[in-house]
Amino acid sequence: MSPEEMWQLVERRRRRFIGTLITAAVLMFVGASAIGQIFGDRYGMITLLVVLIGALLFIWRDWRCPACQKGLGVEFRPRVCPNCGARLAPPGS
Ligand SMILES: [Zn+2]
Repeated sequence: MSPEEMWQLVERRRRRFIGTLITAAVLMFVGASAIGQIFGDRYGMITLLVVLIGALLFIWRDWRCPACQKGLGVEFRPRVCPNCGARLAPPGS
């Protein structure tokens, strides 16, 4: 895999990571409070937890190094993979 391809893969995953965070935040604040209003606070809490766990699971599964498939942790812009050392920064930077 060329450095260019690696970078594009990581960048695409990073966008999905951000998109998941934003979607989860919106669902948690808007969805959970709406469901809480309609069905009661208990269901609002359950919705909150389900969204949170779902988002974390998705990020955990998706936010991985394209070279070794190991998790990249909470680092948002890793320059190199902490596991295999593959370069994840844009080529030429
Ligand atoms: Zn790696």
